[in-house]
Amino acid sequence: MISQYISHSMKESSWIRKMFETGNELKRLYGAENVFDLSLGNPIIEPPDEFFEKLEKLSRDKKSGNHRYMANAGFAEVREKIAYYLTETNLLKTDMNHVIMSVGAGGGINVILKTLLDQGDEVIVFAPFFAEYEFYVRNHHGKVVIAETDNKFNLDLEDLEKKITPKTKALIINSPNNPSGKAYDEQVLKELVKFLKNHQKKYNKDIYLISDEPYREIVFKNIKVPSIVSMYENSFMAYSWSKSLAVPGDRIGYIALNPEMPNANQVIGGLVFSTRILGFVNAPAIMQLVVSELLYTTVDINYYEKKKNYIYNRLSNAGYDIVEPEGTFYIFPKTPGGDDLKFIEKAKNRKVLVVPGFGFRRAGHFRISYCTDDHIIEKACDQLVELV
Ligand code: PLP
Repeated sequence: MISQYISHSMKESSWIRKMFETGNELKRLYGAENVFDLSLGNPIIEPPDEFFEKLEKLSRDKKSGNHRYMANAGFAEVREKIAYYLTETNLLKTDMNHVIMSVGAGGGINVILKTLLDQGDEVIVFAPFFAEYEFYVRNHHGKVVIAETDNKFNLDLEDLEKKITPKTKALIINSPNNPSGKAYDEQVLKELVKFLKNHQKKYNKDIYLISDEPYREIVFKNIKVPSIVSMYENSFMAYSWSKSLAVPGDRIGYIALNPEMPNANQVIGGLVFSTRILGFVNAPAIMQLVVSELLYTTVDINYYEKKKNYIYNRLSNAGYDIVEPEGTFYIFPKTPGGDDLKFIEKAKNRKVLVVPGFGFRRAGHFRISYCTDDHIIEKACDQLVELV
């Protein structure tokens, strides 16, 4: 028998599996080219040429030690380069001691939560959010508390005031956001920082902020996402190359913490130890070396921006109510009629697969993932336009 907890969790997220199976079944029945799958956040774009060049070069490099166990935090020279990059780009003034390599952002967030949480500690997440956060928090015996955002997906500090308690240990923010595409501006982040500082004083405790940043570079109209990690001492950045280099299968990212964090040394010790005992041991060695030579490289962001413009224009002209995304490769329209489950069924009957908003804890919406081929997007839009 598997554990009751896992059995229960699997049931709770069975809709994801069901969607996946439905997609496969439709593809089997009608042919993959006749099913318009906009449900997956798995980019079809290939990594940039430089990635393959560095990978080839580094995988042939027989320098001794490249494939051994290493310090759990990762290669020192890689962490040094990342710290330099973060400092130079004004994302965070830091040094290599405050950078720990991770197994993607998912691995990084689990390491942070493992390090921070005691049984029953509360972690606030902002709806709509990446569904896995709930499992990540529960993995480490924390309790998820959901704060709402407003109808433009901006942080709502009034609601946050109702949700924060003396048991709040951490908050997770994700900008640009999966699924809404919202990127928080500097003013909003400053207000959040002020709010958190006030509440640290009020409760006389540390309240940590985890900034989940796998979409940091995927932003449109040349906006720059302000770095909250540099604005708030008790904060962590969980970064990943999954999306910026289109290498989600290679599982590589890092955690960077604000060097001004009180007890930073103890926290770093905890992160390193958690990396070890969660069984990650260290982030994949060859990938650490590859990404450290590609810190200024990303996939072509224009590729996503064009797709976003196409979908946003077509669907909003057809009457869908949409907040225009500022980044990511997702768009999160309201479902006509309100009921997202009914809507995705209707879309499915037209062989269009999208994800219901309730999966991100914001019902009445649906998520389109547009990291896929133009012809699939066009055909899917034809159907969605008819459907509305
Ligand atoms: N956070 C968000 C908001 C995501 O959308 C994803 C993946 O889709 C992740 C974290 C996990 O990313 P990684 O592949 O780096 O673990």
